[in-house]
Amino acid sequence: MQVALDDYVWAAGVATELVNTTAEVWRGDDHLPDLAALVAFADLHGGQSGQCGQSGQSGGQSGNECGHDGLSPLARRARTSDLHAVHALRTTVRDLIDHPDRDHLIAGATALTSPAQGTTLIPDPGRENRTRWAARLRDGATVADALSLICGMGILGVVHTLGEQRFRPCTAPTCRGAFIDTTRPGSRRYCMPGLCGNRVNVANHRARQATTRGQGANSP
Ligand SMILES: [Zn+2]
Repeated sequence: MQVALDDYVWAAGVATELVNTTAEVWRGDDHLPDLAALVAFADLHGGQSGQCGQSGQSGGQSGNECGHDGLSPLARRARTSDLHAVHALRTTVRDLIDHPDRDHLIAGATALTSPAQGTTLIPDPGRENRTRWAARLRDGATVADALSLICGMGILGVVHTLGEQRFRPCTAPTCRGAFIDTTRPGSRRYCMPGLCGNRVNVANHRARQATTRGQGANSP
C-alpha cells in the first residue's frame, strides 16, 4: 500500500473521521469499539476508486500497487492489539489537532509516517503515462501502521499546503469533535457538517421561535 504525497485532502479526511469516532465525541458511545467496526471504517474510508489505479493497471504487479485499497485487507487481518493501536493513534492524532503549533504538528506527523518504507512513484490515474510521489507502507505493516501513515501524510500535506490554522475544534456548542479543514476557502465550522451543522440550525430555529413567542406574549 502507498499513500500519494499530493493526496493530503483524502488523508486528512481519514484523520478527521478517525478522531471523531471516539466515545468523547459520541457522548460515551465509541464508534470504533471492535474489529468489525474497524473493518467497516476501513471499507468506508480506505478505498479511493478513481484516485488511484486499480488492480491490473500497475504494470502487471500483483494486487493494487498504487492506492489505498490495502486498508480493507489489513483491517480484516487485524487483531485486538491492532484495534488498541488504532485507539492509541486516534488519541495521538487528536492531540495534534488540538495543539496546532506548526513545529508540534510537523514533529508529530513525521513520527506518524514511521511505518513508511521509502518514497516511490505510482501511476497517476488522472494523467496517462504520468506519476505521483508516494510513500510506501513497509512490508508486514498492520492496519494501525497504515492509518498512522495516512494520518501523518495528511497532516504534513495540510501544514505544507494550507497552514496550521486548518486544525480546529468543532464550533457546535455541545460538540467535542475536531477536524482538519481542507476546504478551499478554509471556512469549515463543524467536525461532522451533516450532524453538528444541523444540530446548530435546529437550536437556532428553536431559539428564534421562543423569542417570537416571547415577543407575542408581551405584545398588547
Ligand atoms: Zn461537531
